[in-house]
Amino acid sequence: VVLIEDEEAIADLVRMYFEQEGYRLIHAPTGERGLDAVRDRDPRAVLLDLGLPGMDGIEVCRRIRGFSDVPVIMLTARDAEVDKIVGLEIGADDYVTKPFSPRELVARVRAVLRRSEEAPRTAAVVEVDGWEIDSGRREVRPSEGDPIRPTAREFDLLWYLAENRGLVLSRGQILEAVWGYDYFGETRTVDVHIRQLRKKLDGIPIETVWGVGYRIAD
Ligand code: CA
Repeated sequence: VVLIEDEEAIADLVRMYFEQEGYRLIHAPTGERGLDAVRDRDPRAVLLDLGLPGMDGIEVCRRIRGFSDVPVIMLTARDAEVDKIVGLEIGADDYVTKPFSPRELVARVRAVLRRSEEAPRTAAVVEVDGWEIDSGRREVRPSEGDPIRPTAREFDLLWYLAENRGLVLSRGQILEAVWGYDYFGETRTVDVHIRQLRKKLDGIPIETVWGVGYRIAD
């Protein structure tokens, strides 16, 4: 796990918890060094502080997404910042607000890793309104034009909706199935990923069911 965090006290605390749980933690105090660590060490997860000296966490996340699908969990100082960064759609997988419990942070990382290490599903293709969603290639083929490859998380979300087409899925259900942890109140994470999917797959028939959640019609 790579931790990109400028505050030594937080880094020490996080390191202690992760090492106790058997993870190896590589700490980088700046965004630039963090990017190097992600490139060189190919970690299984990245914990990324938003407020860093020099290059901020938003820019670091964008750059990581330029070359890697590694799960990124953003650490933010205020709840209000979550809205702001969610709005920027930078491709983070999850958000944790400071002060966080290191135990919860370990739980989130474990959930993210469990998810990415699950045995691959039997490859299958689901067809929705002329779109082919291919779980083997993890790509989506529109009726016209080139295949589109969403990020790993976006694809998992789309696949979950497609596998359960016809059913209305609540944000809590989606969080648990796709992110793999019980609902902590971060339903915005689901909304922003839906928004990204709609943007990348223009016209994909994901319906918003107000007050409930989302569905792909049967
Ligand atoms: Ca900071």
